[in-house]
Amino acid sequence: MRLLIYGGSFNPPHLGHTDALRTAAEHLSPDRILVIPAGIPPHKTLADGTPSPEDRLRLCRMAFGSVPGAEISDMELRREGKSYTVDTLRQIRREEPEAEIFFLVGTDMLLYMEQWYEFREIFSLCDLAALPRDEGDLPALQEAVDHLRQTYGEVVTLIPKTPLPMASTSLRADLPERKGRERLAENVYSEIIRCRMYGAKPDLDWLRERVEPFLKPKRFAHTLGVEETAVRLARRWGADPGDAAEAALLHDISKKCSVEEQLRLCEKYDIMLDTFEREAPQLLHARTGAYLARELFGVSDEIFQAISWHTTGRPGMGTLEKIIWLADAIEPGRDYPGVDRLRALAEEDLDAALAEGLRRTLSHVGESGGCVHPRTEETLRFLIAGKE
Ligand code: FE
Ligand code: FE
Repeated sequence: MRLLIYGGSFNPPHLGHTDALRTAAEHLSPDRILVIPAGIPPHKTLADGTPSPEDRLRLCRMAFGSVPGAEISDMELRREGKSYTVDTLRQIRREEPEAEIFFLVGTDMLLYMEQWYEFREIFSLCDLAALPRDEGDLPALQEAVDHLRQTYGEVVTLIPKTPLPMASTSLRADLPERKGRERLAENVYSEIIRCRMYGAKPDLDWLRERVEPFLKPKRFAHTLGVEETAVRLARRWGADPGDAAEAALLHDISKKCSVEEQLRLCEKYDIMLDTFEREAPQLLHARTGAYLARELFGVSDEIFQAISWHTTGRPGMGTLEKIIWLADAIEPGRDYPGVDRLRALAEEDLDAALAEGLRRTLSHVGESGGCVHPRTEETLRFLIAGKE
C-alpha cells in the first residue's frame, strides 16, 4: 500500500495547499492520503491569533475535502507538546508496518532536513517527496536530493511541477483588508468570515453576491443604493468605508421574512421585544437582521448596532449607526418631498441631517395614521439636547 502524508500548519489551508496535494497525488498515485495539521510546529511558533486546533481541523476538513481520498488526521492536534514529525511517522509506521510511506515536503523543509529532530530516523521510516515552491527552486532542490541520497541513502522523489504560488503569511495579512478570497476554497472562506478567524473582514464583492439571494430584486437595488451612499458618508464623516459598505449590504437582510418568520427569529435569538415592537412587526427586520448578519457573517458589534437601529434610531448613536440610518433614508432610489434637502444636509452636518430625517419620520408616519416607535422620538430629543 502506498501512503502519502501531508503535514503542515495549514494556517489557514489555502488553494496552494490543496493544489500541492493534488499534484503530489497525481505523481505518486497513493492508495491512501493522510493530511495532518500540526499542533505546535517545532520549527516555528504559530502566529498570534491562530485559530484553535478544533477550528484549524474544521478548516482542513473543508479545504481538503475537495481532494479525492484525502483523510484528515487530528493525531498531532491531540498529542501534547511539540508536533515532531518523527513521532507522527513512528505512530503511522506502527499502524501500517507494510506501507510504502511518502512524506510530502516543500522546498524549505527539504533544504533544512538535516536540522530536523531525529531526521535519520525520519529517513528510516519513510521516503520523501518534494515539491518546488517555484521553478527557480529546482536546481537547489535537485542538489539537496542528491546530497541526501549520497550521504544517507535516502530516496527523495522530486515532483517537477510547481503548485499555485501562495503563502499563508501574506494571506493572514490580507484577510483583515477584505482581500485573499480568491486564494481560499469558497467553503473555507465562508467559515473564516463567519467565525472572523484571523481578523478577517468580508470581501465586498463576495458579500454582495451572498446577500442578493436574501433580497427581492427591488430591495437589492435599494441595498446597493444604501451601500453607495453609506460609503460616501463614511468618507465624509471619518468612518471606515468598508464597515459602512458591510453594514449597508446587510441592513435589510431579513426584510423578506414574513411576520411569523420575524417572530420566530426573535424567539431563536432571544430578542426582547417591547409592547410597541410587538404591535409593529415592520420594525422587527432591523433587530432580527442584526442577529442574522452576525450568525451568517460574524459582523462586528459596531455593524451589529448599525443594523439593529436602522429603523428607529436610538439615543447615543455612533457615527456608523447615523450613517446607515441616513443612507437608508436618502439613497438614490428614494423619492419624496425634501429628500434632496436632506441629501445636501447629510454632506454638511451629520447630526442635523439625522435630526431632520427623524423629524420627517415622526410627522410623515404620524400623518398617515401610523405609529412611530417612541425610540425615534427619544433619539431626536437626545440629538437636540446634545446641540444645546
Ligand atoms: Fe430596513
Ligand atoms: Fe433599507
